[in-house]
Amino acid sequence: MPEISGNAGYKPLQGKLAIVTGASRGIGAAIATKLASYGATLVLNYTSPSSAQKTQDLADTLSATYGTSSIIVKADLGDTSVGEDIITAIKTSPLYSTSTRPLKVDIIINNAGISKNTKTVDVTPAVFDEHYRINVLGPLLLVQAAIPYLPYDGSGRIVSLSSVSATLGLPGQAIYGGTKAALEAMTRTWARELAERCTATCVNPGPVVTDMYGGTSEEFKEVMRPFIEHAPLMNSGGAKGRGATSEEIAGCVGMLCLPDSYWCTGSVVSCNGGMLMGI
Ligand code: NAP
Repeated sequence: MPEISGNAGYKPLQGKLAIVTGASRGIGAAIATKLASYGATLVLNYTSPSSAQKTQDLADTLSATYGTSSIIVKADLGDTSVGEDIITAIKTSPLYSTSTRPLKVDIIINNAGISKNTKTVDVTPAVFDEHYRINVLGPLLLVQAAIPYLPYDGSGRIVSLSSVSATLGLPGQAIYGGTKAALEAMTRTWARELAERCTATCVNPGPVVTDMYGGTSEEFKEVMRPFIEHAPLMNSGGAKGRGATSEEIAGCVGMLCLPDSYWCTGSVVSCNGGMLMGI
């Protein structure tokens, strides 16, 4: 696998504030690291008590490595107050409470999400509600709360984590895939409604080696095998089909946050090793 550079000295996001939801582990932690390497100041969100120390350790490492300032916010994307909770936490943090500069939210990464594979016969309203609250309503409420603080020169960025599941009709993912399709639809609307303020894009990974994919059943992994084995990049360099690393996804998200990506909006950027080319 090619090494993904740390971009030493390249700081295109210096002075920008980036909110990363679900930054405690997996893809979110890798995205936070990538944006920190580009010079951004970070808001690191998590929700589980067991992730408090992990998130603090990440902030400490990024501070030592890149000189990054981070605001850590424990907030549940499933709470209807989550948008206001995150914005209030930023405003009242030591970084902003004494600053005379108006708050500007340059980048929002809607990364936090859940996936509890459930066959359609077993879906309950509670399963539906939990997925749509965390994966759809949470990002909507965060973007809504951040609108007053987005830049006015079109330099803002919203990047949301969709999935190949929005497209492939994977078994057990009627609900999860539906939430990701909803996120893609909201992204297209944000691209129009907020066109003067920010771009809005999604990335759509296939399997990524994180706790989420690790938690899927052997039966599900067996369904995924032919897809993975026929994705050009997942079957390259001697690999016989492999999931992506979190850093490979973070590289693509980081690219969409750069100033150079300003003409890219309203689209789902394929970030799955070519898996959507089909089997
Ligand atoms: P993960 O390893 O399970 O980590 C999930 C992250 O989301 C954690 O930081 C977790 O915080 C946070 N989170 C979960 N529920 C939350 C809530 N209610 N409020 C706030 N934060 C919450 O997941 P991942 O694999 O890194 O996935 C990240 C994103 O990529 C998700 O949107 C997922 O759907 C998408 N994706 C993943 C894959 C894959 O194969 N892994 C493929 C395609 C798309 P705590 O640590 O505090 O629990």
